[in-house]
Amino acid sequence: MAHKICKNCGEFNSASAIYCCNCNSSLRDVKKREDAIDPIKFSGKAVGYNYSEEVTLGEWIIILILSAIPILNLIVLVLLAFVWNNTSINNFGKASLILVTIGILIYFLFG
Ligand SMILES: [Zn+2]
Repeated sequence: MAHKICKNCGEFNSASAIYCCNCNSSLRDVKKREDAIDPIKFSGKAVGYNYSEEVTLGEWIIILILSAIPILNLIVLVLLAFVWNNTSINNFGKASLILVTIGILIYFLFG
């Protein structure tokens, strides 16, 4: 979703808003922001932007090599899921952990 940030008070408004819902300033000349950029909010106000960074080719190569090593890959997946400073990588790590867990359960149930 697109949105507008008030120039006057920093309030987060919907893209279609004409006046700020907090201070009533005009949002006519405020440009809509598109949302690969997530606003970082503090008590309802946008205080900054969380730029979703692209994962580079080199990072993917390191991640894929590390996640191919048995045992070590479990540690790496936990780091990717919770420590890495990138939402896409965090989701990749969490998804992999879920699949690994399901795989281990199936192995012990039927193996
Ligand atoms: Zn405002």
